[in-house]
Amino acid sequence: MTNQAPIDALADVLPLTARANITGVLQIGGCSVRDLAAAFGTPLYVYDEHTIRQICRQYLRDFQAHLPGARAHYAGKAWLSPALTALLVEEGFGLDVVSAGELHVAIAGGMDPEHVAFHGNGKTPHELEYALDAGVGRIIVDNDDELTVLDQLTRERASEQRIMLRITPGVDAQTHAKTTTGLRDSKFGFPLPSGQAEAALVRALEAPFLDVTGFHIHLGSPLFNVEPYADGIATIGEFAAEMKQRHGYEWREFSPGGGMALTYTADRVAPATESYAVQIAEAIHTACDTHGLPMPDVHIEPGRSVVGRAGLALYSVVSRKHIPDTRDYVTVDGGMSDNIRPAMYDSKYEAAAAEQMNTVPGLVATIAGKFCESGDVLVRDAQLPALQLGELIAIPASGAYQIAMESNYNLSLRPAVVMVNDGDARLVRRRQTLDDLLHLEL
Ligand SMILES: *Cc1c(COP(=O)(O)O)cnc(C)c1O
Repeated sequence: MTNQAPIDALADVLPLTARANITGVLQIGGCSVRDLAAAFGTPLYVYDEHTIRQICRQYLRDFQAHLPGARAHYAGKAWLSPALTALLVEEGFGLDVVSAGELHVAIAGGMDPEHVAFHGNGKTPHELEYALDAGVGRIIVDNDDELTVLDQLTRERASEQRIMLRITPGVDAQTHAKTTTGLRDSKFGFPLPSGQAEAALVRALEAPFLDVTGFHIHLGSPLFNVEPYADGIATIGEFAAEMKQRHGYEWREFSPGGGMALTYTADRVAPATESYAVQIAEAIHTACDTHGLPMPDVHIEPGRSVVGRAGLALYSVVSRKHIPDTRDYVTVDGGMSDNIRPAMYDSKYEAAAAEQMNTVPGLVATIAGKFCESGDVLVRDAQLPALQLGELIAIPASGAYQIAMESNYNLSLRPAVVMVNDGDARLVRRRQTLDDLLHLEL
């Protein structure tokens, strides 16, 4: 058990602007979470604008230092909203989308479609048309059927589309089975060893309106080790060299994907952005030197690591239970409908009593969600002080893949989202209402 106050023990996990005031109340972006909860209710998702901006700047600085001209596309599936998009535009980020819905929100938020890359293994013909109409910069083609549809659609329109081919290099990224994507047996991408990647390139080069700018890999996430990137890039470099030899094709662009880790718990700190930058840059330089390939423009695609730390989930305690000689449970007013990750990936989190940030915790309790599933447990064996009903619980590192994966399970209401900065709190999404639950019903 730690003997540090949570404000210090959780310094690597909380948003960069996190402070505790003299009475121990957590403040983010100069706003007291007690005031935020009073104004907007709980569960509440609080995003710290400063943290997002700092991380965006760090990514561009570190990658451009080692790979001049490198570009960053934020992976919108981690969390997307018009407010976030506007911020990304200001920071010089492009965007990865995986659906017409994400593209629609990105455009509503002011993203230039030219800076959008469209991903996914199941893009429907309708979605592809939507993307072509919108003028997305790149479509990351995943499979043969998609190639056929795109070839046909671009012929009908007689308009050129830039594409990249998503290649599955056959690399084990050593992460959760549900989030590994670079293995041979993956639903994503053209398998390399079987020759399908080469066949796809040949077909794409014959398509009159498809311009193949290069290759894309995404190994999985979160990758707490940087080595898999080197393995993946070495493999793709060899492939690029073979394609040059056999088909005279030269890559102009390359994406090593996303998957950069996020510090969820104090005992497992994610590598610095710079470590990823150095590893990826070295591997690309090595591949180009070894095979005499031109240096491609590099597009990175971080998602969780851009917004995860900025986001804090704020709940209220609604019930407590002590089971003698067994366990203490604290139930909060949210759970698996706003955070499915513990149930889906066994994800671990820290938790803190947000109004007692200066108090060294003396108890161990399990934070349960309110949903009718035994698996709806947010944090097992959290270190907490004694808690009153209604007290605020903060779960840091909640900015990614939480509200993006939310549901209305048990017909709960989706939480409000607030963006804080310099003492200002801006509601960027209102809480759902009971009437919202009936809006789609006929
Ligand atoms: C999910 C995904 C990402 C982002 O992964 P993170 O872990 O959020 O960084 C990037 N690229 C592709 C193709 C993805 O599927």
